[in-house]
Amino acid sequence: MKQSLLFVPTLKEAPKDAEVKSHKLMARAGLIKQTSAGVYTYLPLAHRVIRNIETIIREELDKRGCSEMLMPALQPRDLWDESGRWDLYGPELMRLKDRKERDFCLGPTHEEIVTHAVRDYINSYKKLPLALYQIQTKFRDEMRPRFGLMRGREFIMKDLYTFHENQEDLDRWYQSMKEAYTEIFRRSGLETRIVSSDTGQIGGDEADEFMVMSEVGEDTISYCMSCSYAANQEFSGLSDGDVCPKCGGTIRTAKGIEVGNIFKLGTKYSESMNALFTSREGKREPVIMGCYGIGISRTLMASVEQHSTEDALVWPKELTPFDLHVVPVNYRDDALIEKVDGLVRSLEKDYRVLLDDRDERAGVKFKDADLIGVPYRMVIGKDFSNGKIEFLNRYNDHKEVLDLEDLAETLKSLNI
Ligand code: ATP
Ligand code: MG
Repeated sequence: MKQSLLFVPTLKEAPKDAEVKSHKLMARAGLIKQTSAGVYTYLPLAHRVIRNIETIIREELDKRGCSEMLMPALQPRDLWDESGRWDLYGPELMRLKDRKERDFCLGPTHEEIVTHAVRDYINSYKKLPLALYQIQTKFRDEMRPRFGLMRGREFIMKDLYTFHENQEDLDRWYQSMKEAYTEIFRRSGLETRIVSSDTGQIGGDEADEFMVMSEVGEDTISYCMSCSYAANQEFSGLSDGDVCPKCGGTIRTAKGIEVGNIFKLGTKYSESMNALFTSREGKREPVIMGCYGIGISRTLMASVEQHSTEDALVWPKELTPFDLHVVPVNYRDDALIEKVDGLVRSLEKDYRVLLDDRDERAGVKFKDADLIGVPYRMVIGKDFSNGKIEFLNRYNDHKEVLDLEDLAETLKSLNI
């Protein structure tokens, strides 16, 4: 892929309203462009990373028996009246009217829609369990949209809903989804901590949040120095120095970014919206539900926050938009261009390659390459005519001059 065609509008200065490192860097690296408060265009580089996150999510959910579908963002008021949330949700709900003055909202979440979608079908225990998910744009008129993709008013979420005949089955799936989430975030190169949380708006019994520990997080987590106890402070009320309720150890607090959460919803929606099934005992019962979210655009931002300095980024292996960044210092004379293109073509057989074909000074190209953060950079300079290139591994900052003959071996050994 030629960089000149990719559309990577890098900037010298971050926008004035960007407060946190990841937001500044995402704007400077040409990943996102704000259109209004809390609403962003995902530019091609960011879009490639988002697709990678989505692929990981799909793989981990599909292999555990979940099915992907796609529900409408435009949701009619009557379903929200059934659940009672049209009145309860408050100003975060983006409300609008159609030409006949009927009320709609832009979906902030999809419990109503998914319950409506399945309720005629799940008439018997024989139809259960079900696990349905989608990857979609959500809308929430957040009071304080900020920190770039962290708290947007329009953002990308994966939401999954499960349906069960009894509590044991919900418990089993909940555990399986907890494992899926752990795997999704591990593969995404994010270190997460699972913390128990209160159930807030949604209601139900058990809930866990997946947190990326970070100074810029909006949540405070109380965790134990001695055991695995960790809880959202909103829920635990525990502060630095308090006694751990589980083991008596000492509690510490730290900030975290919530990238995902899982809830045991119970029968809140199935009762209010009449999603009933006939049980093994022949009784009509409300189906038991679980719901599970991942903030995909927030995960992208958390990844940038975790893998960057003020001026440089290094994408984790499974998220990176490209594997190799080929940077010719000079991409002008025809014979050289032909040779570089030949090398890139051969690399593209095995790797995703970004070629900086722009007519820019070397310094500009190097700065942009640091911002873009492709893990391996190959500089094509004067020694190219002698069969040599400069190879930088950003994961360990190791730079070496390589013979082109050894390049294939080196790349193989890196397990890209
Ligand atoms: P928060 O407490 O941060 O407002 P929430 O409890 O409202 O989150 P959910 O409704 O459970 O979040 O949404 C699932 C996931 O979607 C969250 O874990 C988070 O990663 C992401 N998310 C929620 N709100 C936003 C937002 N405004 N912008 C970006 N991502 C969001
Ligand atoms: Mg919220």
